[in-house]
Parts: sequence; C-alpha cells; structure tokens
Amino acid sequence: MNSLNIEYCAKCGRCNEVCPSYKVFLNESYSPRGRVRLISALKNKELSETDLLRRRLLSCLLCGSCLVCPVGISIPEYIYETRANMNKALNLYPFKFFSLHPDLFFSVLKTISPLLKFFKRYQLKKLSYFRIEKEKNSLKIYSKPLAKGRFAIFFGCSTNYMLPSLKQSLISLLNKLGYEVLIPKQHCCGAPLFSAGFKKEAVALLEKNLKIYNSFSIDGVLTPCPTCAHTIGELYKNYVGENIKVMNLSKVLEDSFELKSSQEAIFHISCHMKNYVKDDLNLSKLLKNSGFLIKLEDGCCGFAGLFSFLFERESIDILNKKVLKYKNVDMLITSCPNCLLQFKFVLRKNVLHYVEIFNENLRKE
Ligand code: SF4
Ligand code: SF4
Repeated sequence: MNSLNIEYCAKCGRCNEVCPSYKVFLNESYSPRGRVRLISALKNKELSETDLLRRRLLSCLLCGSCLVCPVGISIPEYIYETRANMNKALNLYPFKFFSLHPDLFFSVLKTISPLLKFFKRYQLKKLSYFRIEKEKNSLKIYSKPLAKGRFAIFFGCSTNYMLPSLKQSLISLLNKLGYEVLIPKQHCCGAPLFSAGFKKEAVALLEKNLKIYNSFSIDGVLTPCPTCAHTIGELYKNYVGENIKVMNLSKVLEDSFELKSSQEAIFHISCHMKNYVKDDLNLSKLLKNSGFLIKLEDGCCGFAGLFSFLFERESIDILNKKVLKYKNVDMLITSCPNCLLQFKFVLRKNVLHYVEIFNENLRKE
C-alpha cells in the first residue's frame, strides 16, 4: 500500500465534502472520515466486526473522490484491505460468480431477459432494456496493411456483453487511425472481486489476465471502461507488482484527430475517469477543439457495481439528482460504459460514449 497510515488522519473533513455516499446517507459513520475511524478502531480491536459495521464499510463506492485528502491517506486502499479480511455475507457471492464466470452469467441473463422487466430490483429491470450479446470468446485480429502500431483491447464486461456498438466503434476508430487491433480472450478485470473482498480469487484472475496480455507484442492496451483501466492498469500492481500497460485514448488520438461538429453536449466524467485515469481534460479538449460545445460535469451516476445492488434506494437517489440535471440536454457523452447504461435506461435518448463520438465524426470527415 502507498497510502499514509490512517492514524495520521487530521479529521479535517475535506474528504466528507466530496463523498457521494456521505451526501446520500448524511451520517458520519457513512462518510470517508467516519470509515477511517471505524477501520482504525477495528484494527486496534476497539470494535468487533458486526453486520452494521460491515454495512458501513460496504457502502463506500470506491469512487476515489476522497483522494483529495491533504494528508495523503488513500481511503479506498484501506477499504479494499478491510473488505478482504471481513466475513462475507451471502449477498456478496453473486458478485464472485459474475466476475469468475461472466460468459455463464450473461448466458443466464440472456435466457431470462424477457422476465427481467418484472423484477422489482432496479438494476435487473435496467438489464431488460439492453440486448445481451454473446459471441465466441476467442482471439480476434483486425489487421491493417502498413499498420502504424498494434493495440490490444480490454472491453470490460458491460461493453463486451451489452454494448456491441461501442465495441465496434473502438475497433473501427483504431483501424481508421491506422492501427492493427487485437482482441484477446476476454475476462472480467476483477473489480467486482476486489470490491466484494474476494482477494484470493481476484489475484488468480489478474494473474490470468496478465498472462494473456503479456503474451502479445503490442504497443499498449485500450479500454473504454475507466474502472477496468484503473483495475488492470494500477490496482494489479498493488497485488502482484505488475500492471497491464493501459494507454489513454487521447494519447492515441492527439496527432491524427480532426473533427467538425458544433453540437451542444454534456460530457459526463465518471468517478474512475476523474480520480484515477485522469484523461478527462485531454478528451474534452479534443472534443472542444473539434467544435463540440461541451459542458463538463462530474459526480457519481449511482452505479458503482456492488453499491447499486446492496444500497438500491441510495443508488437511485444519486442517479435521480444527475438525471434532473441532464434531462433537457440534446446529447450526453459519457466516459464510462456503466454510466452510459445508467443514463440511457432513464433518459432513453442521445447518450453515447466518447469513443462512439470520435468514431462517428472521424468517419464523416
Ligand atoms: S481528508 Fe484525510 S485527513 Fe482529512 S478527515 Fe479525510 S482522511 Fe482525515
Ligand atoms: S471512495 Fe468515494 S464513496 Fe468511498 S469513502 Fe471515498 S469518496 Fe466516499
């Protein structure tokens, strides 16, 4: 861990000001500063592990907003570590199953998808709106004569199974820019396992992913999902000392990119994009330079994987606040496939990922 010891917390509350879960629970024990205090008490054996304590620690979205801590404490790192040592309630096991067997998980979902709209759970209802796509999970190469370079893609599960147009857009954009594209066998990045505290299984999965991506001669890996980018490009190193070399798309685009558009749009920056990947300003510059009248917005969409299933009411509250802001815009550009699914289900209009925007406009050029 790189983070400073939590015992140095100055209790300044800077982290509370930016925490989406604190804003919705309005309770100090559901705030980053409160969680620091709870983790410290747990470590010092002043508190024992109870259901209530687990609930408070599971209510963190791992969004990284609290990385603004002036002392340098990384609360998400402590949350990962503490969850890994906690007892696992039964409701965490579906996340383990999903992360280890996404093919099987989405096959089941596809089979029962006509019934999903009758479920009360919001996230299941949401899945009924999107077509689940399944194709053979094997190595694919989209070659390009006289290629400038070669990139591998890590789609992430949401894109891989639910957003076929985003998949095609990324492949097509890279091909148009003159790169050969390689799509290795796709697995989950392991974020749901880390998030639910299944560390042993997460490490086995990340070793599998590292082996796959290290076996190719490539210039780097691109992913449309900032949560995957953070997991495979940063988090892996904390556990096995090695990352997958993830590239920011703005770097790939900067020399060759030229668009013509004057459309107004909101560019919604996801938490992982803003707090970990940090490609948001470069991407928005590319959009603005090309004529898009972009308004930047950040803040949680309410999904955060585990959080939206365990804390459904609070997740919907967070989403609704964003929807109020976005409901009248003609176009919403997202920087994350999971935010895209959240907003598309509610807004039912022009919600696109920035990769789709870049690909679409480059084609027109
Ligand atoms: S910002 Fe850092 S020092 Fe301040 S309360 Fe939060 S964890 Fe403690
Ligand atoms: S990671 Fe996000 S939700 Fe968790 S404590 Fe920090 S700001 Fe709050």
